[in-house]
Amino acid sequence: MNIILFGPPGAGKGTQSKYLVHKLNNFQVSTGDILREEIKKNSDIGQQITSNMNEGKFVSDEIVNSLIKKLMLDPRKKDKLIFDGYPRSLSQAKYLDLLLDNSNQKIDHIFFLNVNKNTIIERIEKRKTLENRSDDNADTILKRYDTYMETTRPVLDYYSKNPNFHQINGTQEIDQITKEIEAFINV
Ligand code: AMP
Repeated sequence: MNIILFGPPGAGKGTQSKYLVHKLNNFQVSTGDILREEIKKNSDIGQQITSNMNEGKFVSDEIVNSLIKKLMLDPRKKDKLIFDGYPRSLSQAKYLDLLLDNSNQKIDHIFFLNVNKNTIIERIEKRKTLENRSDDNADTILKRYDTYMETTRPVLDYYSKNPNFHQINGTQEIDQITKEIEAFINV
């Protein structure tokens, strides 16, 4: 089963995707984690993306798409993908469709975790103290939220027409969100 978790930073995508990975024995595809790993390794890509990431701006579609393409070539991951933070632009969503078609796969469920700005700010302030991420500060949070909402709106419009699209109230407790997701995927 392939699933997309969709929603602004701090919506709980990471928490829910980790749970689903465990439950379904799937693989998490977190572009944020993959990109942070490139920075840690100080790779060519890492050097190109550091300033964008720190300023809360998106990394180019070209870079993100190439990382996803590489990952989807792994046959062990076929039909076992939990996308967390990808796609984030219409061009990424269309590129993902192409990769899925080429590998004979489809997305079974798309979950949009809908959360308001104030809740996001509170959650990210809390996460900052736990994870110490360099892009988790008040200014960057607001920038990331606005960038997300601006760039991702067309993706939301695109996916909301899909019969497997489900909107979940992401301000609820973690367990309640999990329950609602599980009801859709029948596990
Ligand atoms: P996240 O961990 O998903 O909140 O992502 C952290 C940062 O990584 C974002 O603010 C972007 O700078 C970058 N990023 C993650 N995923 C993507 C993506 N699909 N497209 C572009 N940039 C991304």
